[in-house]
Amino acid sequence: MAERIADVCLVGSGVVGGILAKELGTAGLDVVLLERGQPISIEEYAPRDSIRFAARTDLLEWVRHDPTAFRSLGDPQATLRYSTTPSNVLGGALLHWTGQAARFQPGDFKVFSNEIATGVAERAGADLRGYDVVDWPLGYDDLEPYYERFEYEFGVSGGGGNPFAGPRRSPYPMPPLRQTAKKVLLEAAARRLGYHPYQSGAGVTSQAYRPPAPFDTRIPERPGCTYCGHCNGYGCHVNAKSTALYTVLPVAMALPNVDVRTRSKVFRVNTDEVGHTTGVLYFDEAGHIQEQRARVVVLGGYVFENARLLLVSGTDQAAARGIANASGMVGKGIFGHGDVRIYGLFDDYIVNGFIGPQSGGIRLDDFNGNNFDHTGLGFIRGAAIGGGGGGTPVERYDVVPPHIPTWGAAFKDYFGRYYTRSLEIGITPETLAHEANVLDLDPHYRDARGIPIPRLTFAFHDNERRLQRFMAEVGERLMRETGASTVWSKLPTRMANRWAGGTRMGDDPTKSVVNSYGQSHDVPNLFVLGASVFPTMTAYPATATLAALTYRAAEYIAAQREWFR
Ligand SMILES: Cc1cc2nc3c(=O)[nH]c(=O)nc-3n(C[C@H](O)[C@H](O)[C@H](O)COP(=O)(O)OP(=O)(O)OC[C@H]3O[C@@H](n4cnc5c(N)ncnc54)[C@H](O)[C@@H]3O)c2cc1C
Ligand code: SF4
Repeated sequence: MAERIADVCLVGSGVVGGILAKELGTAGLDVVLLERGQPISIEEYAPRDSIRFAARTDLLEWVRHDPTAFRSLGDPQATLRYSTTPSNVLGGALLHWTGQAARFQPGDFKVFSNEIATGVAERAGADLRGYDVVDWPLGYDDLEPYYERFEYEFGVSGGGGNPFAGPRRSPYPMPPLRQTAKKVLLEAAARRLGYHPYQSGAGVTSQAYRPPAPFDTRIPERPGCTYCGHCNGYGCHVNAKSTALYTVLPVAMALPNVDVRTRSKVFRVNTDEVGHTTGVLYFDEAGHIQEQRARVVVLGGYVFENARLLLVSGTDQAAARGIANASGMVGKGIFGHGDVRIYGLFDDYIVNGFIGPQSGGIRLDDFNGNNFDHTGLGFIRGAAIGGGGGGTPVERYDVVPPHIPTWGAAFKDYFGRYYTRSLEIGITPETLAHEANVLDLDPHYRDARGIPIPRLTFAFHDNERRLQRFMAEVGERLMRETGASTVWSKLPTRMANRWAGGTRMGDDPTKSVVNSYGQSHDVPNLFVLGASVFPTMTAYPATATLAALTYRAAEYIAAQREWFR
């Protein structure tokens, strides 16, 4: 059934879809938003139930029906992963995110210019064969006003004080979250070692908050955080965590010209004979195929789904290549963090690490990006270092030093004594784009409706391995300085966390998929937004930056009035 022609069809209702629905709807455009997940009420996500949400990942129920195939380099066949990040519920993954809301640093946008062209990589002795390191087509200053929009509209608390951060026009909209014992321990240790710890931005309200003018005052007020410690993997029972679900989406959904349809899974982007998109095909709630025609289509379905939708939407002439892929770059330039974790135990000091949100902890950027001397280290780039770890016993049962068994009486004795006396440092070393790391369509597996699922082929290469080992040493030094009596670390194994890339942005259409507004080089009325457009990964998680890119793209799309006459 062909419906009316919408001005804009949005795929996905996460940060990208939520911001665009509000901004483009407010600009008077006729918007249809298609979300494969279902709506969720606070009664459903409010319980502080670790078994239900942390162990059984109840909030990810819908993900189980939409797997991704993963294989390490060299594996003949991929295995299915019911991965956590591509959440599918109205509002997307921010419902159960941790809330670390970090801006990237100015140098993060110019890795090629700053570190390859200037000889940093050579002096480091880094072997970058097979890597594909590029600059972003825009810089920190281009995004600064949009970072501010995100921080004020979604609500970000923080204190600043990071000497490596880019300049800000205004302070955080809320004061930082209160300090907990783990922050006090880490901050003091970092200062003694001569580093520059600071309290990072958190997508968590530190007090009752509603955006002030000139930001969007239609966004509802929310109370401050209660420090219950159930953030990562849970929805927040008082809505203190900043998510699209109760910030931008309620404003968008109140607009008469924004039509949000849940349980609507897009499986194809349609194009006409001149190569423009005409809309999408989707399965509605009853499983029937529907067409939504539109003048502009925006994909905001997260990394794997953005690339997949381009790859499955090829026409007969070029089916294997997909659409928007004249460059051949769809699925290339993909990366995820290889987390290094450092653990410490205290004999005489109670840390009570379960208190408070995991975001907004103490961090340091002394070893991030190009902030330290790489001469002779054998790698480029760095990592963000900070307090980490979830809180409840169910989430901490695997924090066990190598010499303690993970079962039986010895384990029970250990856990009874040290559950409240452990500290974790989370380190997120950057991963560079490598020609062997690719997202494509799996030749074997299909989803429940017969559509090929995305397949990720991935390995850490020389630069990552060296960087990860270096960071483990830095982290262990820092942990010992806190006074911990037992210290151990875990390096990443085969898989990464927090994915980005796959539909790279750039100025050169032969080397990138979209421009700096997320607009396809090949299909001018098709946009792709989210972490999939990042040309390099950086050491911080993606949300603040992908939100800033989306606010910027919204202005650009709304300004193309001739498209919508
Ligand atoms: C446990 C966890 C902790 C995290 N912590 C942090 C953190 O501390 N800091 C940080 O910066 N980031 C964090 N993240 C990542 C953060 O959640 C993402 O960066 C952010 O949600 C991305 O927003 P998005 O709009 O691009 O995608 P999403 O939020 O994933 O939204 C995409 C939406 O599109 C829908 N969709 C996908 N495909 C289709 C389709 N074919 N048809 C219709 N709908 C579709 C999905 O159902 C989903 O609702 C975390 C993620 C998880 C899971
Ligand atoms: S710690 Fe704060 S933000 Fe996190 S779930 Fe509890 S109340 Fe919400």
